Amino acid sequence: MRKRSAFVILMVIVVCAASGVAVFLKGGRVTAKQTTYNTPKNIPNVTILIVYDNNPYKDGLATAWGFSCVIRGLEKTILFDTGGDGSILLTNMRKLGIDPGEIDLVVLSHIHADHVGGLHSFLLKNHEVTVYLPKSFPGKFKDSVKKCGAKIVEVRKPLRICEQVYSTGELGTWIKEQSLIIHTDKGLVVITGCAHPGIVEIVKKAKDLVKDEVLLVMGGFHLVGESTDKIEKSVSGFKKLGVRYVGPCHCSGDTARRLFKKKYSEDFVNVGAGRLITMEDLR
Ligand SMILES: [Zn+2]
Ligand SMILES: [Zn+2]
Repeated sequence: MRKRSAFVILMVIVVCAASGVAVFLKGGRVTAKQTTYNTPKNIPNVTILIVYDNNPYKDGLATAWGFSCVIRGLEKTILFDTGGDGSILLTNMRKLGIDPGEIDLVVLSHIHADHVGGLHSFLLKNHEVTVYLPKSFPGKFKDSVKKCGAKIVEVRKPLRICEQVYSTGELGTWIKEQSLIIHTDKGLVVITGCAHPGIVEIVKKAKDLVKDEVLLVMGGFHLVGESTDKIEKSVSGFKKLGVRYVGPCHCSGDTARRLFKKKYSEDFVNVGAGRLITMEDLR
């Protein structure tokens, strides 16, 4: 009996000491950056549904120049970019079974019309949202969003948008752009609008911020009309960074889509209007 209580006391001491060490280590490592970024969680129900793209995927949906996708299965339902035309956006959403009312947050990558053009029509259907937009957006644009009744968050530095979701912050010099990072237990999912700051630079930034492997990079890679040489450099840049899956669409261009597909084979994700990406697709 006495032996047993001595063992219990010993265990209590060990546990206390261990947690003390853990607190000490954690305390020693905590920086402003690390308190912002969570550890990855298993979020098996995350889905990304492309509602607007110039590449076709699902029959019956309109294709037009621009990009937009809806991310479900997280703490908040997110509309990333809004395409160029509000009526195409809303029609495609309806055909895909997305009620505008289910969107909590809108994240706008950059000011170009093929990414923000559908916003106003969307806000007329649902203004009970918070719109995350680059701080550099014109005051007139910000005012028009607020006038619709939506809240805005002006993004300059990287920030946490909701649980497991981050913005890279405004990147680039000429055209400022933010990209979205979802931190899953399998790695990072990076979603870009047009990738004007450079697709490889964006992936590097995402990796540097959240410090995990990159599971998927998808969206516009801004490689349309670029030389094969430059595209090959981006492909090898992705491989060097350990990007597991790629889904170039929108302004990536047919050559980049072909060259990424050649290198990534079954890890190439064919992204177009109506494509649904689930965690099952990314092993
Ligand atoms: Zn674009
Ligand atoms: Zn653009």
